[in-house]
Amino acid sequence: MNPFTYVRATETSGAIRALGRDSHFLAGGTNLIDLMKMGIVTPEKLVDITHLPLKHISRTPTGLSIGALCTNSEVADHPLVLKHYPLLSMAFNAGASPQLRNMATVGGNMMQRTRCPYFFDTALPCNKRVPGSGCGALQGYNRMHAIFGASDQCIAVNPSDMSIALTALEATVHIQGARGGRILPFADFHRLPGDTPEKDNVLEPGELITSLTLPLPAFPDHVHYLKIRDRTSYAFALVSVAAALQLDGGNVRAVRLVMGGVAHKPWRLEAAEDFLRGKPATVENFRQAAYLAMQGAKAYAYNQFKLTLAPNAIVQALKTASGVTA
Ligand SMILES: Cc1cc2nc3c(=O)[nH]c(=O)nc-3n(C[C@H](O)[C@H](O)[C@H](O)COP(=O)(O)OP(=O)(O)OC[C@H]3O[C@@H](n4cnc5c(N)ncnc54)[C@H](O)[C@@H]3O)c2cc1C
Repeated sequence: MNPFTYVRATETSGAIRALGRDSHFLAGGTNLIDLMKMGIVTPEKLVDITHLPLKHISRTPTGLSIGALCTNSEVADHPLVLKHYPLLSMAFNAGASPQLRNMATVGGNMMQRTRCPYFFDTALPCNKRVPGSGCGALQGYNRMHAIFGASDQCIAVNPSDMSIALTALEATVHIQGARGGRILPFADFHRLPGDTPEKDNVLEPGELITSLTLPLPAFPDHVHYLKIRDRTSYAFALVSVAAALQLDGGNVRAVRLVMGGVAHKPWRLEAAEDFLRGKPATVENFRQAAYLAMQGAKAYAYNQFKLTLAPNAIVQALKTASGVTA
């Protein structure tokens, strides 16, 4: 039993002020409470932020603003998201279960910890949980693990589906701290493990995610979120692909491709995007793009299958998004 204090904040600055060392914001609780029950996180204080006024979904002159406390299902089902950003709805609906999506918030989803089994088992070494203790996954059962951007300290992957779509849509994150606010591209929020795998992202202690903004809709059609997993629901991605295309006749005018389940952060496939831009949308070009996307991939003992699964998933996502089958 780890005792902790609980406070409920009603305004943003009060929530930030209330957060001290070894304390956490509490949003939907669907990740944090599990981690506390397992003794992986042992905060001295929880600051409940569920009563903060961060629950809007509204148009802005430059796109759409989404409050950090909107639930996953509120965003997924919102008419503006369904119409203008269907890729985001698809990604949300591929995650977790309806009950979890009704509780889990956007900010909490961004902050969720890895599902690496070595992180979850306090009897095993994990540099992310206990820096310096070693990486059990490196020589262990690493079926779920990274094929891009890993280090010899950590080969865990980020489990968020939402974050894959938000990277593809080039969202922006709004953050508030005691010393003021800052805004950063969503793609810069999560980080690679390097020598400090305990840090999943660039949020500083005491900072609160307040909202996300999406740019004006650029990909209302020709999008697909493909998630490949062991069960068809209620399971994390082995590999996922967010594909968004603008087609001009039979040619690719614009494209975004991001993979999940393969790295410590959403993995944008820039070489594949560069190759496809301006080219005919054909299966042969999709295959070539997938080949380019896989350059530099490195598998471990139990996740060699991802080297085949990932390029096939890229091709399939592009086929479904474009409607092109030949
Ligand atoms: C069984 C199960 C299956 C799941 N399957 C999937 C899946 O397939 N795909 C997927 O993407 N996700 C999945 N999830 C994860 C789920 O999406 C996350 O648990 C959820 O998004 C976390 O949101 P929350 O609001 O409950 O966060 P909490 O649990 O309340 O918080 C998580 C962390 O985020 C921090 N935090 C929360 N809000 C903020 C904020 N505004 N600013 C700064 N820090 C903040 C908290 O302090 C805490 O450290 C699954 C979860 C479970 C339990």
